[in-house]
Amino acid sequence: MKADEINALDPARTVVVATGNAHKVAEIEAILAPVMPGARFVALGELGDFPDPVEDGETFFDNALIKARAAQAETGLPMAVADDSGLCVDALDGAPGIYSARWAGEHGNDAANNEKLMAQMSAVPEAERTARFHSSVVLVRGDKVLCGEGDCEGVVGFEPRGDGGFGYDPLFLPNDTPGKTMAELSPDEKNAISHRFHALEDLSAKL
Ligand code: IMP
Repeated sequence: MKADEINALDPARTVVVATGNAHKVAEIEAILAPVMPGARFVALGELGDFPDPVEDGETFFDNALIKARAAQAETGLPMAVADDSGLCVDALDGAPGIYSARWAGEHGNDAANNEKLMAQMSAVPEAERTARFHSSVVLVRGDKVLCGEGDCEGVVGFEPRGDGGFGYDPLFLPNDTPGKTMAELSPDEKNAISHRFHALEDLSAKL
């Protein structure tokens, strides 16, 4: 976004979306725009090149709030929305959970994370492979905080399948789409059942 466009933004109507993922911006806008009439959703990256905050919270909510507060502070705009999500596997006592992005070491190395998941689940029988994606979406308005929480229930597969999505999608079979991994769904199919969708619905019901 050009400097004059940024200067022309109305702070009372602009919602900064604290994510680098363009798909997430569209998903968040699609669900929140109808319940926030007049709001303009702008990705944080469009407003400048800001460093990522340290996500040292103990819950998905904590980390989503850290990101939303950082976006407010960095831009000086009063409204920001952020999400934090991850995969919670029952047989692994909820791991990787909030550590999903950096479970295998390097942040965002999906291939290494999936290798680790396959290895840790190799001896776990079918019936005990239950898991869920969880998402917390936080909207801050000044010092007010609103949060939506959502899950997508499913099981961990034995081998990766599909080219769509990101992260653990190739190893996760949602209960809502039997026989298909999340990476085998179209974006619309995924968005209709995803943890983020449910969290955004939960948040929009509170607006
Ligand atoms: P984030 O908080 O949305 O950035 O997600 C953190 C990590 O959780 C990602 O790097 C992925 O490993 C995992 N994750 C979150 N949402 C999804 C999803 O929809 N599909 C697959 N993996 C996900």
